[in-house]
Amino acid sequence: MAIEFSERIRRLPVYPAAGGYAQDAPLVRLASNESPFAPLPAVREAIQHALVNLNRYPDPSNSLLRRRLSDRYGVPASRIAIGNGSCDILLAAGEALLEPGAEVLYAWPSFSVYPHLSAASGATAVTVALDGSERHDLEAMLSEITVATRLVIVCNPNNPTSTALPLSSIAGFLAEVPSHVCVIVDEAYCEFNLLADPDASIALLERHPNLALLRTFSKVHGLCGLRVGFALCGSEALPQALDQVRQPFFCNALAQSAALEALSHQDEVEERVARTVAERNSLAEGLRELGIGFADSQANFCWVHLGQDVDEAEIMRGLLDRGVLVRGGTALGSETPALRVTYGLPEENERFLAALAEVLQPAVTR
Ligand SMILES: *Cc1c(COP(=O)(O)O)cnc(C)c1O
Repeated sequence: MAIEFSERIRRLPVYPAAGGYAQDAPLVRLASNESPFAPLPAVREAIQHALVNLNRYPDPSNSLLRRRLSDRYGVPASRIAIGNGSCDILLAAGEALLEPGAEVLYAWPSFSVYPHLSAASGATAVTVALDGSERHDLEAMLSEITVATRLVIVCNPNNPTSTALPLSSIAGFLAEVPSHVCVIVDEAYCEFNLLADPDASIALLERHPNLALLRTFSKVHGLCGLRVGFALCGSEALPQALDQVRQPFFCNALAQSAALEALSHQDEVEERVARTVAERNSLAEGLRELGIGFADSQANFCWVHLGQDVDEAEIMRGLLDRGVLVRGGTALGSETPALRVTYGLPEENERFLAALAEVLQPAVTR
């Protein structure tokens, strides 16, 4: 007889992972919004130093990292949650806040981890379509808040569409959300957003104890391989609840050391953001020359509109044949053919553009 699993297992969607991990040939990897830049030498050195203590458990309270984050962002350490990647914080928030009968509200298409929260808890997911510019429709989201709503997630800039809302819209939205409803603003890409200073949203925490700003070392710091994220929270209640539902040692020692070191290299971070924004502009120019539409990106990736008549899977295959790995839009919730393409190094982006130009030629004939 086959193993009998829980009801939960039948509800849980399988995360749409990028392909290409089994590939031997070098690929241009533009599918996972990773940084094209290797971790900084000082960060690698910090990891090296931490290796000798791996016979010891890591600090379960992440006290040093939370203290440094507190110094950096001006939020008390007691209001900072750490996670084994920010996805860990999302899933723990789902566990802490949701249950059958409760509702979680978010836009769609948005980050592919959000549907796991309702599936894992048995809560109901309420999704709201993006507006005509593929941005969150906060008015429509407000109108979906009910007595059952426990959690609202706003992804800004939004993955996979790359678009961002101005901070004033988010502030206006928060003013309307009942204060017993937890709001997570997922800011995984906030450093790449030129519409607002990445530190500007922090002031909202003083007005909204129900708010959490979700950040990560995975994207701009290029440490996704180590898994460390954090949430800056409006009150101590959420960090406490998150720690209650997780195993004690969720953030490993190397991740804590690397994140600590990464925090003290703000100049390099800004320089890398500038290089990414330069690539964002140059890829936009290349796509315009090819006559291909795309969303207004405030992130480290581009949301490419392939057009209704194009076979997305065929484009993906064509790109992969040319050594370029990107993410298909329909697997991420798009109703029309689309690609999510991470900005890589200049030569990688050129390879993508050249490959796309080639594969689009025969694909548009139908
Ligand atoms: C990449 C990403 C994250 C970060 O995930 P980690 O678990 O920190 O690697 C969070 N939210 C969104 C929207 C993302 O795209």
